Amino acid sequence: MADSVNSSLPSTLSTIFLDRDGVLNRKMPEGRYVTSWSELQPLPGVPQAIARLNQAGLRVVVVSNQRGIALGLYTSEDVHNIHTELQNWLRSQGAHIDAFYFCPHDKQKCNCRKPLPGLFDQAHAQFPDITVASSIMIGDSFSDIQFGHRLGMRTIFLEGDPQTQKLGVISARRLADLCFPSLPAATDALLSQIASLPIP
Ligand SMILES: [Mg+2]
Ligand SMILES: [Zn+2]
Repeated sequence: MADSVNSSLPSTLSTIFLDRDGVLNRKMPEGRYVTSWSELQPLPGVPQAIARLNQAGLRVVVVSNQRGIALGLYTSEDVHNIHTELQNWLRSQGAHIDAFYFCPHDKQKCNCRKPLPGLFDQAHAQFPDITVASSIMIGDSFSDIQFGHRLGMRTIFLEGDPQTQKLGVISARRLADLCFPSLPAATDALLSQIASLPIP
């Protein structure tokens, strides 16, 4: 992990890739999934953090592995509904997500389950100006950090709740450019970095 925020962030930042579970909402215990909006528990300060990213002119996109669909625990339709509810709830607090992408597949069945790059490709297809050099990936799993790192993005690992931390925390910490306890803390660092950049 790099030692300073300034040396670890893109010099121009335009897109923030966010994992969902454990970043926006409380991660369920291992092996359990968010199957409906009523089970999604937003983490403290998340709408405010996203609103600040929105106000800074940054694109905010969510990239989420939803293997529970492949396991038959819920459907893609359920995930779309959860994201519609989440978006409405965020909008009621002055925040929004620019796009949601998710992988509905089981392990080793596709090119879109993080750490594979398919969800980045989907985002890039929708927003062709996205580049890895002007993007950052924020997540609470090793697979999120690998996803960003393999693509050549800067990465931020969120430590999250020790109760639900996955295996791979140590690897994630080591590979990530920066680590913070939460999305609000990471947002503070990102926005102070942007404020300190020289005006072109
Ligand atoms: Mg996660
Ligand atoms: Zn997939």
